[in-house]
Amino acid sequence: MIKTRFAPSPTGPLHIGGLRTALFNFLFAKQNKGEFLLRIEDTDKKRSEKKWEKEIFENLEKLNLFWDNKVERQSKRKEIYKIYLEKMLENGTAYYCFCTKEELDKEREELIKQGRAPVHQGKYRTLPLKEALKKNGNPVIRFKCPLNKDIVFHDLIRGAIKINTNDIGDFVIAKDLNNPLYNFTCTIDDYEMQISHVIRGEEHIPNTPKQILLGEALNFPIPEFAHLSLILGKDKRKLSKREGSTAIADYLKQGYLPPAIINFIAFLGWNPGTDKEIYSLDELIKDFSIKKVSKSGAIFNIDKLDWINGMYIRKMNLDELTQKCLPYLKQKKGIDNKKVVLAYKDRLKKLEDITKLTDYLYQDKLNYNKELLRWKDMQDREVKKSLTDALNLIKENNENIKEKLIKEAKKASSIGNFMWPLRVALSGKKASAGPDEIINIIGKEESLKRIQSALAFLTKS
Ligand code: GLU
Repeated sequence: MIKTRFAPSPTGPLHIGGLRTALFNFLFAKQNKGEFLLRIEDTDKKRSEKKWEKEIFENLEKLNLFWDNKVERQSKRKEIYKIYLEKMLENGTAYYCFCTKEELDKEREELIKQGRAPVHQGKYRTLPLKEALKKNGNPVIRFKCPLNKDIVFHDLIRGAIKINTNDIGDFVIAKDLNNPLYNFTCTIDDYEMQISHVIRGEEHIPNTPKQILLGEALNFPIPEFAHLSLILGKDKRKLSKREGSTAIADYLKQGYLPPAIINFIAFLGWNPGTDKEIYSLDELIKDFSIKKVSKSGAIFNIDKLDWINGMYIRKMNLDELTQKCLPYLKQKKGIDNKKVVLAYKDRLKKLEDITKLTDYLYQDKLNYNKELLRWKDMQDREVKKSLTDALNLIKENNENIKEKLIKEAKKASSIGNFMWPLRVALSGKKASAGPDEIINIIGKEESLKRIQSALAFLTKS
């Protein structure tokens, strides 16, 4: 059975890159009727926090990326790692190393001076375990790396990757029996969880040969590997805060919809090779192909996310969209938020945009510059006339306001001369919904009040 895993370290919020790793693992497992597992890599006690673990779970759930089985936590598996460490020490595939930091630094310096790779030369690799156990000191545990052996693996995205063990050396696998390190715990867990495919970021390519070597030493079957390219900003540099936030929670908070986020993330490195750009999670499960994932960096383009999100917003039915917009809208007696959402849904890139766009609808008193009431070079008296005509029209009519306003506007010297002062009187803004939409939302009484205030404003100065 195909089994994949997402194995985050809970040292910070779930980021764009992490979510993409989770998504690709999820899609690959699901399209093969396999399992997608979640493993929390929390062996680094200082940097791991429960709150981040919770944050990762919550965000994956919000995005509908549900994992199979119970979550595994490395901090709960120390006894298991210890058994494997002891086994390796006993069969001589690992050994205790007593080198001090000073010694290692010196060795490194020397090697670099000689123009050689700074790879540890394994001073203690032949010290028998019995002797090591009698020796004083704080030894670490190193892997006894086979000498001069080519390790080749066929990355599903990048093809063959080859590295010689002489460039790896005897790497540390545990600080002591109770404190194993990443490459070791990862190898043990991938085996015990029967992971068939390891899909992760390209920063882990240097770890893969080490994990293969450990797996071979323990007679484990070796999983397949796929390494995803970096996510880059528009400037082609590694994605960072420069492009805005990289934390998924922030995107959700701003009102990017979960299916839009998923749709967008799927395209970071993958594309179907067709024009189709809008994909549901189920469609992604069907069409995603790990073989079509690109080797080169994926560009993070927020405009694309805005565009996709806008599509999802407009596709949603009005009741549901209104419900989703409520946290971003003010409340006021007499204002039906559904009407507000209807008037604004075409202008939203993300739900939080609606707050600023619609603030004027809920205000008791508008605050704007009188000059804004003037369309082009209108005189004050012309502005007043337009507003008075509009006031009377609205007073006398309850229905078909839009048509009536248009008819009236056509009588004026220009449509702008009639519509602009009215729209500004109603909104106090350079840009807003149309006058009829505003009247429909705030009601006749409030509209008349706003026009009267504008007239008073003109008279005052
Ligand atoms: N805990 C590692 C990380 O967050 C995951 C490594 C892996 O997927 O093997 O980068």
